[in-house]
Amino acid sequence: MAKILVTGGAGFIGSHLIERLLQRGDKVVCVDNYFTGQKKNIEPFLDNPNFSALEHDIVQPLHGIDANQIYNLACPASPIHYQFNPIKTIKTSTVGMVNMLGLAKRCGAKILQASTSEVYGDPHVHPQGESYWGNVNPIGIRSCYDEGKRVAETLCMDYHRSHNLDIRIIRIFNTYGPHMHPKDGRVVSNFIMEALEGKPITIYGDGTQTRSFCYVNDLVSGMMSMMDQDGFIGPVNLGNPVELSMKDLAKLVLKLTNSSSKIEYKDLPQDDPKQRQPDISLAKEKLSWEPTIDIETGLTKTIEYFRELR
Ligand code: NAD
Ligand code: UDP
Repeated sequence: MAKILVTGGAGFIGSHLIERLLQRGDKVVCVDNYFTGQKKNIEPFLDNPNFSALEHDIVQPLHGIDANQIYNLACPASPIHYQFNPIKTIKTSTVGMVNMLGLAKRCGAKILQASTSEVYGDPHVHPQGESYWGNVNPIGIRSCYDEGKRVAETLCMDYHRSHNLDIRIIRIFNTYGPHMHPKDGRVVSNFIMEALEGKPITIYGDGTQTRSFCYVNDLVSGMMSMMDQDGFIGPVNLGNPVELSMKDLAKLVLKLTNSSSKIEYKDLPQDDPKQRQPDISLAKEKLSWEPTIDIETGLTKTIEYFRELR
């Protein structure tokens, strides 16, 4: 039985990952400081003897625990949350990363780092392949997240080269689904909550900027394949290549919620990337992975989740 540590396990993606690992019969320890994570996301696992939860901040070293695998997901992911305390955000991706790499080294564990499409910044290459080095502002309001994640990738590679540590790097593109916090601030949860509450749908900028949205179950399958295969450390893009403008996303949410909310335009935040679409050829080749859930099906499931929350 593998013993698996999931940092950020009480968050949106982490809680889905834990559910799948427990279903497979693994022993799982969730490590979370509950900054953006919710205890109710892990509540269903508390009766499972293979599950335990540890309240811990990864910026502090973690002693007295062993694992065969570590999924490092701890880091706020929504711009409003990672900009709330930017110094803490960058510490989580740097000091926290060093702590988790040190733990992996001590235990001889494999470690998978949840990196992000944000390492490509506001990309000049479209779609984004893993060989693109990105266009990131090092001093802007998104830098605490983007640059933190870039340093985390560097740290993983240097631990791999210097200490032969068994690492995996995945670059996650925009992911959505149940367990997102309704006030998370990301576009999918905002649009759905606004539509369900009959409030105006807030589009930032003119709504022509694009993102490519992956349903969380698809993402988790890709993450687990990446951890479990041997001989490929990444980085690898994991995302759904179907690209959508924010205007089209708003229209789709309005249609699927049957809402009569109006659309309201607000200022575009600084350094907001204009376009983003993953090139997933590498994931297809190395992991035989590609998303299976289309945006209408995924949004419908997510809307159901938010409806029940209200
Ligand atoms: P989330 O905010 O729901 O989850 C992050 C979790 O990490 C939360 O439970 C939070 O409490 C915890 N956390 C934050 N700082 C911590 C610290 N210092 N110590 C311990 N725990 C800490 O976000 P998510 O969407 O589930 O994202 C999970 C991971 O995936 C993040 O690393 C994020 O950067 C990455 N990612 C997510 C997306 C996406 O679209 N959701 C895209 C790219 C990358
Ligand atoms: N966005 C929007 N309205 C919202 C929230 C976000 O138009 O209420 C836009 C945001 O400016 C960005 C896109 O939606 O262009 C995706 O934003 P999100 O914060 O979800 O993810 P990220 O920018 O990190 O990809």
